[in-house]
Amino acid sequence: MKRIDFTNTQVASSQTARDINRGVVLNLIRRRQPISRADLARVSGLQRSTVSLITEQLIRERWVVHGPIGRLPRGRRPRFLRLNDRKAILVADLRPDQTRLGVADVNGNFLSQEMMPTTSDPRATAKGLAKRMLHLMNVHSDLVFEGVGISLPGRVSEKTQHVIFAPNLRWPDFDLKSAIRKDIGLRVELENAANACALAEVWFGHTERIRDFVVVTVSEGLGTGVFVNGQLARGRDGMAGEFGHVPLDPNGPACSCGGRGCWEVYGSNRAALRYYHELSATKDELSFQDLLALAESEDGLALKALERMFEAIGKGMRMIVTGLAPHEIVVVGEVTGSGDGLSRGEAASRPTSRRGHGAPARDCGARASKTFRAFRGCTRGRRRTFLAR
Ligand SMILES: [Zn+2]
Repeated sequence: MKRIDFTNTQVASSQTARDINRGVVLNLIRRRQPISRADLARVSGLQRSTVSLITEQLIRERWVVHGPIGRLPRGRRPRFLRLNDRKAILVADLRPDQTRLGVADVNGNFLSQEMMPTTSDPRATAKGLAKRMLHLMNVHSDLVFEGVGISLPGRVSEKTQHVIFAPNLRWPDFDLKSAIRKDIGLRVELENAANACALAEVWFGHTERIRDFVVVTVSEGLGTGVFVNGQLARGRDGMAGEFGHVPLDPNGPACSCGGRGCWEVYGSNRAALRYYHELSATKDELSFQDLLALAESEDGLALKALERMFEAIGKGMRMIVTGLAPHEIVVVGEVTGSGDGLSRGEAASRPTSRRGHGAPARDCGARASKTFRAFRGCTRGRRRTFLAR
């Protein structure tokens, strides 16, 4: 039974109901486009008149346009509706060394992408990003830009909207949102990269019917986006999901968060590079892509370094499987391009307890294998914010 505290609640206004119905209709159009009004009413269970009111409003606001005219054996030919792909969003995926930015339409198609360096000076990075975004708006002057979505390896305070915890960016408390909004003049949404990936999975992936899953983003650090009971777990001050900073060994190597022996110190791209340097005693500067290329060419030490990393990822996944019992864990990052390695690491994540969550753990492995695509389209998640408003 669900325990609900009625002492401090507000009744739903008719506006709330309208907003929910609008979200339902917009989502149905996105998923089933082109679709007729009659089918929208049939699938949603809403009255035809309600569907008409909502679609007229969406058409007025140019979120939705008329598509092709349908063919039926008899009766009036319906006018199909589809999303207006002239509506676009500026997106950016901020990582410690590089930022990928681009333009995406409402259907989640990237119309252009480019890279720029990320620096440890948040002001300079924000300026550079805004400048390039303004340029992209000029290049795509035929599009109507609705807003800016930025995913980043850190946490954003729900109260102040400042970036408050971004150990891998090495940024102090910073108001990135205002800095970008001031230069671009559009609404700006910030989201933690792992959370954005979780939203992207719901929006564009295959997890539509799954209400409990976890996204693990493996990059310079290790992040998780936790989706519980059909909702993103936010926690106090948006800090939920920091499994990457759970200390597995208090005497382990120092972590960027100030702690020691965190999961990410063992399972991140940086960890794999550290293993390789320890094993080979080389002083050469190496990127994670270089390491993957070495492993691809059967370099024994590179393979060993990656294996250690996979095992560490698996151990942390076991912690998640045991603690949250998700239906799926989706792994995101360059590491997913490295063949069956992750499945080997996944074996380490299978719990051995008799109560056993073996089945979901195996599913996680299968899912990880299927997700072997360097899908860091975290910024895609942002579109959910704009569509669902
Ligand atoms: Zn840490």
